[in-house]
Amino acid sequence: MQRFAAVAAGLDYKQCLCDSWILGMYLRFLTTALLITLVVSVAAAEPIPICDGHIHFNAQVREHLHPTDALRRLDEAGITCAIVSSTPNDGTERLHALAPDRIVPMLRPYRTAEDRYTWFRDPATIEYLRHGLAHFDYRGIGEFHVFGAQAETPVVREMVRIAVSRQMPLHAHTNVTGITSLLEQATSVPVIWAHAGFDTPVAELHALLDAHDNLYLELSFREGIAPDGRLAPAWRELFIAHRRRCLVGTDTYIPSRWTELSALADAARAWLTQLPPGVATDIAHANAQRVFARGGNAGAAP
Ligand SMILES: [Zn+2]
Repeated sequence: MQRFAAVAAGLDYKQCLCDSWILGMYLRFLTTALLITLVVSVAAAEPIPICDGHIHFNAQVREHLHPTDALRRLDEAGITCAIVSSTPNDGTERLHALAPDRIVPMLRPYRTAEDRYTWFRDPATIEYLRHGLAHFDYRGIGEFHVFGAQAETPVVREMVRIAVSRQMPLHAHTNVTGITSLLEQATSVPVIWAHAGFDTPVAELHALLDAHDNLYLELSFREGIAPDGRLAPAWRELFIAHRRRCLVGTDTYIPSRWTELSALADAARAWLTQLPPGVATDIAHANAQRVFARGGNAGAAP
């Protein structure tokens, strides 16, 4: 039939067959290209996984959020692992019990919320920390608050000695004087600077990162990273120069931060995706995982 039609149309039969073969190949090529495009766009649309460097599960939050629901919120936000601390510390332990592979438990030096203002000059802090470390497998100490000369008290010095002896990272909410003191006391363990100093000039952060191999920046509440959604050039430069030293964080210190968790994680993704993919991956999750890797690698960044 095909031959008859071709002859009737005055066309060469072989030529006709060849044309339909080329057309078939072309269609197959188009279909394959379309499928590849679809697969690539689906992969690109996958949210970048985050290992959150700053999650709290405080008593005030637990009144509203069961640990199971907290884990569900982490799932919904694409937060695959989290560095967690709480006041009191049993909130962290409860979350960890439900997801030991995803929750990295940190020990705070606070028995109550009020301890935040006095712990660094209260000798009872040391006993409390020793007891916490003896009864639970904490992976670091923090987040703790300490400013300026408070980082030099005998209590803080002893706490840092304990962390160093156990090769445990520290997570400090502090200012430039405080972080400098902690970095000098704890040269062999990572010192994670919560909020990357809030508004400390980026040039000063650069200098501190250059001077201290054990400094890491945790980026929750940090000002100026992506004003109006566009990654600031100074931050881009810092992230690329120190790609192994920065960690994303959301800081869920009150119930509303848990409610906003997905939006907070997506806000971080919005500037992470403006970085080269490998740099984004480091900051989104690989650095946090490296800092808290079991069996070494807890020291300064490579
Ligand atoms: Zn903080």
